[in-house]
Formats: sequence, C-alpha cells, structure tokens
Amino acid sequence: RMLALALADIRQNCRQVIVLGGKYRSVGHGTRIACSPYWRRHAAASAVVFSGWHRMSYVTTESFSFQSVELERQIRLLHRAVGNAVVDDKHVVFAAGSIQLINALVHALSPDANAASPPARVVANAPYYQAYRVQTTMFDGREYRWGGATAQWTNASRNSTTDEGGFIEFVTSPNNPDTMLRKPALGGSSAVIFDHAYYWPHFTHIPSPADEDVMLFTMSKPSGHAGSRFGYKVAKRALDYVSDSIMGASRDTQLRMLGIVKAMLANLHGKDDIFAFGHDVMRTRWRKLNAVVSRSRLISLQKIPPHQYCTYFKRFREPSPAYAWVKCEGEEDEDCHGALLKANIITRTGVFFEAGSRYTRISLLKSDDDFDVLMERVTDLVNAEKYED
Ligand code: PMP
Repeated sequence: RMLALALADIRQNCRQVIVLGGKYRSVGHGTRIACSPYWRRHAAASAVVFSGWHRMSYVTTESFSFQSVELERQIRLLHRAVGNAVVDDKHVVFAAGSIQLINALVHALSPDANAASPPARVVANAPYYQAYRVQTTMFDGREYRWGGATAQWTNASRNSTTDEGGFIEFVTSPNNPDTMLRKPALGGSSAVIFDHAYYWPHFTHIPSPADEDVMLFTMSKPSGHAGSRFGYKVAKRALDYVSDSIMGASRDTQLRMLGIVKAMLANLHGKDDIFAFGHDVMRTRWRKLNAVVSRSRLISLQKIPPHQYCTYFKRFREPSPAYAWVKCEGEEDEDCHGALLKANIITRTGVFFEAGSRYTRISLLKSDDDFDVLMERVTDLVNAEKYED
C-alpha cells in the first residue's frame, strides 16, 4: 500500500513538472534519462533493497577497505567485455562522481607545494568541459593554477616561457560539447588526464581500448545513474586523496552500482544489450535532428563521419553523439543560445566551453518526451526561415 501511495505521488509530481515545463524545455543539462526505459524493463534485476542495519561501517567486512572488491571486479569485467579501456595492470579508485576526481588528479600530478618549481598550469583544448576550469580556479594555489585553453600554449609560445611550470592537460574523448574523439594537444612532458566519460558504444564507435596512464570514468553516462554520484579513475598510481577527503564512495551507492553493472554485463550482446539500446536511441535522435537542421541556413551541427567501425559491435555504425554542438551561421559574436531561447529551447552557451557565443550545446540525453518537443521547436524554427530565390 505504501508503495502504491509513493508511486501515485511520483506520477502526480511528474505530471506537474511536464505542465510547468510546457513552454520552455531545457536541453541544456547533460542529465542522462534517455536510458530510463531500459531500466524499467530491467527493474527487478537491477533493484537493490537493504535494511537499516546493513552496511553501516566505513569499511567493508570482506577487505576492510572503503571500496567493494566485488564491484571493482565487475567494473574490470565490464571494461574487458566492452573493450573500451585496458584496466588490468592499473588501480581503480572510486569517488562521488568523476567530477570529484578532477581536482584530486590535478593535485596528485602537481609539483609538491614545498618544491622550488613553479606551479603547474592546468589546460584543456577549447571547446572543453567547463568543470576543469571551475574546479581548478576554485582550488587555485601554490601547486597549480588554471592556464586556460591549450591553444595559447602551443609549442611556439611554450618555448618562450620555459621558466613556467609544467602542464597538466585535460583531454576529453569523446569531447563534451562537440563529441569528437581527441588526442593531447601539447605533448612533451605534460601530464595528461584522459576523461572518457562518453567512451562507451552508445555514444561513439570504439576504435580500440583506451590505455592511458590516467583515465577518468563515470557511471553517470553509460548506465545513466547520474544521481547515484559514482565515478572512478583508472591509473598506474594509487591515490590517497579520496580516502583522505571523503573516505571512499558511499557504500549504499556502491551496492546499487553493483546491481547495475551486473545487469549490464548479464545482457551484453544479448537480446536487450544496453549499448545496442542506447546506440539505437541516440542514433535515431541524431538522424532526426540532422534531417531538420540540414535544411537550415542559419544553424548547423558538428560533422561526424556517417559510418565508423566499432570493435564492440564488430561492424560499421552510424553516429550517436550525446550532444549536438550548434553553430549559428551569422556574425562571429552572435548569441546562439539567445536565438534558440527565442524558440523556447534552453541550451548551454558556447561561452561556458570557451568557444564563444556563436556556439551552443543541445543535450540529446533527455527523455523521449523532451526530445519530441525539442524536434517540434527546432522544426518550427527552421520552417520559419525565409529566403528569396
Ligand atoms: N566529465 C565529463 C566530460 C562530463 O560531461 C561529466 C558530466 N557532465 C563529468 C565528467 C562528471 O560526471 P559525474 O556525474 O560522474 O560527476
């Protein structure tokens, strides 16, 4: 009876949100709810119920550590089965979302605060995920500082500033917001942190497993459980920061993630593979959006090759990006976010990504309902363009 009441309450709230959100639909945030129909189908297999006395301690009884040995084993199995990362000879460290690990890694890769060397510069190639800048400037200190977009530190300008400290470069592949696979721009002795949040077969083809020294992953994207706040790093070196700051990821979350990862693994390459499902949803959305936007002379989308070989699906696959990176074709300083807002579409301005206001990002990770409304509004916008022959 309590469950029935709770469900009625949730349904009522959902209805209210849809009614209130009638005019403006936000496709600005990257919240990942496109996967929820999948988890509704696997509701029982992925459910976790535990009572009040369970998992109360800081540490597990099996290993006396903050980290579940079984969850770590399942995550390693998942990467091996998907073929998107080499994890065998590396440490896996859990955290409260991969966002928490951004500063942890910058801290670990920076010179010692007492060392004579100048602070490290933390950089990323624009357009880049803004959390790298926000977090680094938040904790700016003696050891590191935000160095801005990589372009200003290309080899030519670096040579003239040899007295500067080393570099820590964030490389997001596929990139948020423009969804391109990327390589480091600086090279040399720079330390590199690879953020592979979207390096899963529903968002990109997998040409080969990533095998870098420092890699970031999050469960927010592959399974869609952003609210559980679970991310991890895979790296050659272990890291004390997480145990020193929050003493590991929540054990409740670890238990939930165990159920989720097991359910993903159990269905891999089967009738209801989460990556096949995710790829199908994202590919269909990208196709629809492209078909409409290709008729426009005012806005355009990033170009992605139509077919790329994926080692996971063992075939050529169509693009299925998490984001549409929209360019307004007018003046250099055109406010693309503002232009779409006039059509009642909330996006995330390119200014966030240090790419200028001419660009803006649309999240394609929303619910089917949100995507349908987005399509209606984009179609109206494009149909309203008038040209003389
Ligand atoms: N890296 C990238 C590139 C992201 O887009 C995001 C989420 N938008 C994150 C990291 C953070 O993920 P989490 O939810 O695990 O903190």
